[in-house]
Amino acid sequence: MNQPLELTVMMYHYVRDPGDEAEAGSGIPGMPVRIFQAQLDELSKRHTFVTWSDVRTALQDGKPLPGSACLLTFDDGVRDHYYNVCRILRDRNLSGLFFALDRLGADDLTLPHKIHFLLAKLGLPLLRESIWKKLSSEQRERFADAERGYQRKYSPTSMDGQLNLLKAVLQRDLSSEVNMLLSELFETHIGAEKETAQAYYLNPEQIREMAADGMHFGGHSRNHPWFDWINVDTRRVELKASAEWLQGVEPGPWAFAYPYGGIAGDSPNLLAEHGFVAAFTTQTQVHHSDPYFIGRLDGEEIAQNGQTYG
Ligand SMILES: [Zn+2]
Repeated sequence: MNQPLELTVMMYHYVRDPGDEAEAGSGIPGMPVRIFQAQLDELSKRHTFVTWSDVRTALQDGKPLPGSACLLTFDDGVRDHYYNVCRILRDRNLSGLFFALDRLGADDLTLPHKIHFLLAKLGLPLLRESIWKKLSSEQRERFADAERGYQRKYSPTSMDGQLNLLKAVLQRDLSSEVNMLLSELFETHIGAEKETAQAYYLNPEQIREMAADGMHFGGHSRNHPWFDWINVDTRRVELKASAEWLQGVEPGPWAFAYPYGGIAGDSPNLLAEHGFVAAFTTQTQVHHSDPYFIGRLDGEEIAQNGQTYG
């Protein structure tokens, strides 16, 4: 990259209202549709919206972006993006960049999404207790060790801290063993995971329709792991899955968003090997000096805290 990229990148996940087609009675909260619309109104006053192909051209050919450029991005390929987001963007003649998981041939929910469902159903204390009961004494020891390690980062005295603590342990230290265990809890407390997963992620038909409406897609891995927690071979497998899935969706080279914003030192090289020319993090920044570390602003957090858009 010859010169730093000046670009406000907004990041969104769930955009939904209780009881709508995306929320579907799951109890999983998201950014209310009306708040999302209001944020787009606000952004449009300060920014010029650009598309992924504008950003790609800027990165590859050095063609400058308009002043105060803003790119809208959406993570995880959840149905909210088809039912709520795509329609809103289409009506406004805007495009979004959707970092969907490659779920072709998969019939389960990824770990973080299983956690969302179970948290919405059981609440934090009961979920933690239900998991604890199913762990072996050796696993309990590692659980407790991991929790102690994260207490420096996430204070257990606040509700948010407790939530982030539990998520960190489950999504990192115990990720391989709790994956099955959470599926068991899902079947017990919620129902058939396969049916839920089928209704939860975008299907190929919806993706085609969104692409025909001018939406762009990028990679977000297949299983949503922390990249700094898995080994290099697994990182390769995850990136290859994204690249192969994207081949059927839109011409490359593509963009990628690191799951949880987790980065390993070799990520840029591996991404380049697999046909990705840019990668997006969860670091809050609007000046970017490396195309594989493009920061983003969390739209939902801004809506809740009333921060400025930078
Ligand atoms: Zn994600």
